[in-house]
Amino acid sequence: MKVPLLDLKQQLSYLRKDILEAVTSVIDSTTYILGPEVTSLEQEVAAYCGVENGAGVSSGTDALLVSLMALGVGPGDQVLTTPYSFFATMGVVLRLGATPVFADIDPVSFNIDPIAMAEVLAHDYEKKIKAILPVHLYGQCANMAAIMKLANHYDLPVIEDAAQAIGAECPMEDEGGGLNVQWKKAGSMGLAGCFSFFPTKNLGGIGDGGMVVTHDGVFADKIRILRNHGASPKYYHGQVGGNFRLDPIQAAVLRIKLPYLDKWHRARRENAGRYNTFFAQTDLVQNDFLVLPQAVYLPKEQTEGVASTSGENFHIYNQYVLRVSRRDALIDWLHSQDIGCEIYYPLALHQQKCLGADFQRLSFPHAERAAAETLALPIYPELTADMQVYVVEKIAEFYQK
Ligand SMILES: *Cc1c(COP(=O)(O)O)cnc(C)c1O
Repeated sequence: MKVPLLDLKQQLSYLRKDILEAVTSVIDSTTYILGPEVTSLEQEVAAYCGVENGAGVSSGTDALLVSLMALGVGPGDQVLTTPYSFFATMGVVLRLGATPVFADIDPVSFNIDPIAMAEVLAHDYEKKIKAILPVHLYGQCANMAAIMKLANHYDLPVIEDAAQAIGAECPMEDEGGGLNVQWKKAGSMGLAGCFSFFPTKNLGGIGDGGMVVTHDGVFADKIRILRNHGASPKYYHGQVGGNFRLDPIQAAVLRIKLPYLDKWHRARRENAGRYNTFFAQTDLVQNDFLVLPQAVYLPKEQTEGVASTSGENFHIYNQYVLRVSRRDALIDWLHSQDIGCEIYYPLALHQQKCLGADFQRLSFPHAERAAAETLALPIYPELTADMQVYVVEKIAEFYQK
């Protein structure tokens, strides 16, 4: 049996006609830059996330870049972020001449740990940290209740890297601080949320695309000006921006896909539940060969220790990621059995060569361990139960050897 990591052909088979019509109508409209498809997608994604404003941009990377530009982040500034993410999270900080400052991850969720963040913020004596950039890795929100509490205490803006997490939800305490929690969508809790429409994300285009969502209308206007070379009005440049516009062909395709998104999330969550059940029927977890992903959250008073988890997070499983032993040999074995898998990501960010020796000397043990141990398995919505049985059987077979 062949089980690819992701199979976009399946979804294309039932969307193909609608997608072709949508693309054709953009071509026939002769509006090829921004225009009504982009505006409609902005409204629809903003509404989906429960925020007032959306600004379509050219990629998830540019969503992050333009958000930091709108905050005025530049040389001499620092941005507090996670050491375990896709490179773009850190790349945008460096491109602006600013410096990333890392707080290690929580080893259960793989997301930035608010306790480590509090430590870093307490030592920011020169107030160089200008923004906080948490990532909702693999489709699970970071501990935003605790992160927003810190951000409010230090009066820092939060830009959520929600590239992998559109539609994920996170419990936030209500204004009174009582026991009632309100579930909030990824991207709707900080000053702004950044999405990627890269084809492998849960909502993917037929090329690059991204969006910034925000409650703040003034911030949204800044993003719209910056994505168009900083021009306002046209040909009058109060600041230096760039060409960060979302293509209307991508917007039209994404508008076809958005109504399916919750259904796809449900299928991914069911697949994750099924893997968990199948793996629990083996002895792989007891024997410490595997650690299954956990979708758990901590209330903001109880960020100390993972034992006090208080509920299940709404994880959208952009990736289903295990910790595994003997990873390289397992990958070779899975490939030999026609099973797709991938490491996200083989290095922690501070270990990247482009940063130089000063960063490589730093130590973030949880991020480094995650980079050395994690492996993503196929989790896409159209994956069948038979395929999952096959994947689990083949993994069990590997550890029996
Ligand atoms: C995909 C991704 C990005 C970048 O998005 P692009 O659309 O590929 O530019 C940024 N951050 C994270 C965490 C991502 O997964």
